[in-house]
Amino acid sequence: MSYEIRNNKFNSYLEKWSKDYEIYGPVRILGGGRFSDTDNIRYEKIKNIEDIEYKEKSIFSAKEVLFPVTETIFNIQEERLSEPNYENKKYLVFLRSCDIHAIDRMDNIFLKNGSFQDPYYKRRRENTKFILMGCNNSFENCFCVSMETNKTDNYSMGIKFFDDKVYIEVKDPIFQEEFKGENEVEFTPDYVLENHYNVTVPDVKKLDFSLFNDEMWKDYENRCIACGRCNFSCPTCTCFTTTDIHYKENQDNGERRRVWAGCQVDKFTDMAGGHSFRRDYGSRMRFKTMHKVYDFKKRFGETMCVGCGRCDDRCPEYISFARCINLVSEKVNEENKEEK
Ligand code: SF4
Ligand code: SF4
Repeated sequence: MSYEIRNNKFNSYLEKWSKDYEIYGPVRILGGGRFSDTDNIRYEKIKNIEDIEYKEKSIFSAKEVLFPVTETIFNIQEERLSEPNYENKKYLVFLRSCDIHAIDRMDNIFLKNGSFQDPYYKRRRENTKFILMGCNNSFENCFCVSMETNKTDNYSMGIKFFDDKVYIEVKDPIFQEEFKGENEVEFTPDYVLENHYNVTVPDVKKLDFSLFNDEMWKDYENRCIACGRCNFSCPTCTCFTTTDIHYKENQDNGERRRVWAGCQVDKFTDMAGGHSFRRDYGSRMRFKTMHKVYDFKKRFGETMCVGCGRCDDRCPEYISFARCINLVSEKVNEENKEEK
């Protein structure tokens, strides 16, 4: 069922849900952007529907709700290690179709990648429900249609924003009772049917290892500056490192944290003894690209990249990852033509 609800009424639902859920959505942070006069749009706890920035693409994704930038994995008290005290929180997250698909990719990495399930991710993921924010137009650099992530059925509620009201589709039985008596409407969330840029994903069966040594990667050696903005804004990058923190008051006490890391940044592949697997930035671009469109697909049957375009939005060197995927596809097709 779908309903039309005025903003102030919807805010009373949010207030009620906030007793059981932490509610997150994309929020505009004035002056919090790259320069002092630019804003940031990232995921924060929200209280009112007006807190949500729905007219623009968020700079960071909902990834950090389920996989925080930094997280304590255990506490150290002299000889004793203990798990942090976790409240049994539930999460309600407003997000777009591509980002729901990105969470499906994170599920593969954290929950279905061999016999081990990541307990920190699992604890949050099992308690998370999605409110799908429909897209009625494609944003700059999106290529979700090419990646087949422009649509999803995986949500509890779907929403469309107007200035003073929302349309809401309620699929999850847990929320269905709540809206009884509200004004019913015909509504399902919007989704885009075309983007400004199209991407062709390479056929993994045709991809040859000679591509790993192709000259195309050299182009990125000089252009990339290893800032890692593409990794940290990507909803499907899940690499992390761990770091130990010792408290000033007592150096025998502290905590071990995991902290986001990224394959494009310096030191990511540094080993004891000084060896580093990918020192040059072209190799890092090759590794990232192949992981997103080749290795992951071979293992899980779907491309890791969901086409949100945030890496292209954020790169200070105007490196286009979408263009890079197309270049790989062109090379794969050329090679296969030559072989025939
Ligand atoms: S690689 Fe780029 S386009 Fe693909 S999911 Fe990550 S940020 Fe989005
Ligand atoms: S955002 Fe651009 S310059 Fe920065 S690491 Fe990624 S590809 Fe390189």
